[in-house]
Amino acid sequence: MSIIRTQVGIVGAGPAGLLLGHLLHLNGIDSVIVENRSREYVIDRVRAGVLEQGTVDLLHAMGVGSGLQRAGLRHDGLYISFDGQRHRIDLAELTGGKAITVYGQNEVVRDLIEARVQTQRPLYFEAGRVSVTALESTTPTLRFEHNGDECEVRCDFIAGCDGFHGICRPAIPESVLTVYDRVYPFGWLGILAEATPSSDELVYTRHERGFALFSMRSPSLTRLYLQVPPDEPIANWSDEAIWREMMVRMSTRDGWRPNVGRIIQKSVTPMRSFVAAPMRHGHLFLAGDAAHIVPPTGAKGLNLAASDVLVLARALKAFYEDHTTAYLDSYSDVCLRRVWKAQRFSWWMTSTLHRFPDANPFDDQRQIADLDYLTSSRAAMASLAEQYVGLPAEVPLEDAGLPIGGSSEPLAGRRRDAVQAQVDDHLPVDVPGVANHVVHDPDLR
Ligand SMILES: Cc1cc2nc3c(=O)[nH]c(=O)nc-3n(C[C@H](O)[C@H](O)[C@H](O)COP(=O)(O)OP(=O)(O)OC[C@H]3O[C@@H](n4cnc5c(N)ncnc54)[C@H](O)[C@@H]3O)c2cc1C
Repeated sequence: MSIIRTQVGIVGAGPAGLLLGHLLHLNGIDSVIVENRSREYVIDRVRAGVLEQGTVDLLHAMGVGSGLQRAGLRHDGLYISFDGQRHRIDLAELTGGKAITVYGQNEVVRDLIEARVQTQRPLYFEAGRVSVTALESTTPTLRFEHNGDECEVRCDFIAGCDGFHGICRPAIPESVLTVYDRVYPFGWLGILAEATPSSDELVYTRHERGFALFSMRSPSLTRLYLQVPPDEPIANWSDEAIWREMMVRMSTRDGWRPNVGRIIQKSVTPMRSFVAAPMRHGHLFLAGDAAHIVPPTGAKGLNLAASDVLVLARALKAFYEDHTTAYLDSYSDVCLRRVWKAQRFSWWMTSTLHRFPDANPFDDQRQIADLDYLTSSRAAMASLAEQYVGLPAEVPLEDAGLPIGGSSEPLAGRRRDAVQAQVDDHLPVDVPGVANHVVHDPDLR
């Protein structure tokens, strides 16, 4: 068995785990990231695409924003469409210059994996039988199999960044966890099409046949969604049927409609709102989808993951540098404050724009009145804009050891004597057979 000693064991190499690993690296804190899928699978997974202003600022400040700078599409506004008419909401004008940036989650993950590899810190793909134990002790353990070897990572802390179906949340005793859950009676059929986006900005559509969303991933790739039943087999939808329904729901009276192109990816995603609280148990900290899920209408999932790990990075930095546990103790409360606001916003966007199977004519008129008010009241538009570009960060970037305004220079040399002393206090020095940073992942060569 390989025994590895680290400060923070991170389960999952999605956005939350990779962002946390790099934030810790920038603060001179050791981590081992363990992912059960392959590198290609993690990068190729098509998911989120809308980054809040704060997430964009975070990526730049971490020095991992060059791809984003090159290929990200800044959007100063978005459209709400109903009754055959599009209404523009000027996000930048309503928020003092803030915007969202469209940059695929797979690109974010690709950039972060490259950054991780450059740090030469451990990142294991295709790990089998991942488990966490001794969470209530000061030496929690992360175990997994890799290339036929058994590995044990002895940690000070474990970060559960392993998404909704991971193993970390279920490792918390049910008696200490409160779960808030709402499953929606519909899902999204999403397609990626080789078609030039016919709008520079997203178009959210309410239609009597159901919700539709026009989005994009690049100047040549259009990303579109249709509301469908939650368990709809994708096989029920031929490409022709998808385009026909897209046109019916999205076309507006002024002649606008999406451009048609070859569909290169399609899938159906069910929708739910979910929160598990608290987000900490002993020395295990949950972050991102492992702790909460939002319906994608508000484009908050990835952004919440980024916000969680920023809060966690500040707490771990304060622990190692200043010997304080105050921020670790407040981690869950600070994160949940933002999580619940994002939950409320995502639920509101979802329930205002989707057609519920049990909706009656009263519900239809109320929805239309809601959208009419939204698109005609500056106060209502400002409220949407403020939440869509992202509420102010819970933690100033500099509190997590990041320069304001961004830098492409890693701060790796910043490990201070005090940090090292603290690390030494925690390390079981001279444990026979203990190897720090054992990396034998062929993916990393
Ligand atoms: C189909 C789909 C579409 C989405 N669209 C949008 C969108 O448009 N906008 C938006 O904001 N959000 C969207 N989301 C949500 C967004 O993608 C997530 O909120 C985001 O991925 C959260 O990041 P995460 O790192 O917390 O979790 P994940 O991205 O789920 O990463 C968790 C990682 O942990 C790994 N893992 C799981 N179990 C284990 C284990 N036992 N051991 C080791 N590793 C493990 C997984 O393989 C994965 O790589 C979408 C999600 C899905 C599923």
